[in-house]
Amino acid sequence: MMTKFIFNTCGAQHGESHHAPDHCEICEDDRQYVGWEGQKWTTHEELAEHHEQRIEIEEDLLAIGIKPAFAIDQRAFLLPTDVGNILWESVSLVAQEAIDAINKCGGLDRIIISHPHFYSSMGVWSDAFGGVEILIHEADKQWVQRPHPSINFWSGDDLALSDSVTLIRAGGTWVKLEYFDRNHYAENETQLDTNTQPTFVEVLKRTLPEQEVLATEAEQLYEV
Ligand SMILES: [Zn+2]
Repeated sequence: MMTKFIFNTCGAQHGESHHAPDHCEICEDDRQYVGWEGQKWTTHEELAEHHEQRIEIEEDLLAIGIKPAFAIDQRAFLLPTDVGNILWESVSLVAQEAIDAINKCGGLDRIIISHPHFYSSMGVWSDAFGGVEILIHEADKQWVQRPHPSINFWSGDDLALSDSVTLIRAGGTWVKLEYFDRNHYAENETQLDTNTQPTFVEVLKRTLPEQEVLATEAEQLYEV
């Protein structure tokens, strides 16, 4: 039977195959570690049997994770913007509970991924919302393990989705999002200096757990 295997270490769902792949390209990148238990594979169905969606509100944003923790304990955030609701990052499990929670917040318009460690089950997320666009920088194309018709690769150093939302290629395999909230700016004008715009960055830093091996890298790149 053809199966889309998910790798336990990074949580990335792979394209269809009869047998579990020999290795995960993302994890074989030498900046990533291979878990001490060696490489193990699961499927979305199997994951759903033993895990639940972890749904929280953090900084007024819907945060979606998996419990008990899976892979590198990634989380995704729903960002309400003037270009619609953006799912920033994704996780390996897509449960009905999370779909309902997102729909209660007005649905999903677009998925944006900052790094291959968040590709996880992005294709399943897109399908759950009628095939919404997934935006990934073209430089990271080689890391996509499950090609999906909704993936759009963007190029260049930045991509403005509106006057408020800009994607920035942050170096290495990272992309960051800059969010300029005009309402917030109007209310807080006096507190701002030229280099400090209200952004989602503080929140986005927390999409990786503090203790995670990539946290330092994320910390540097997401530094405000
Ligand atoms: Zn991997």
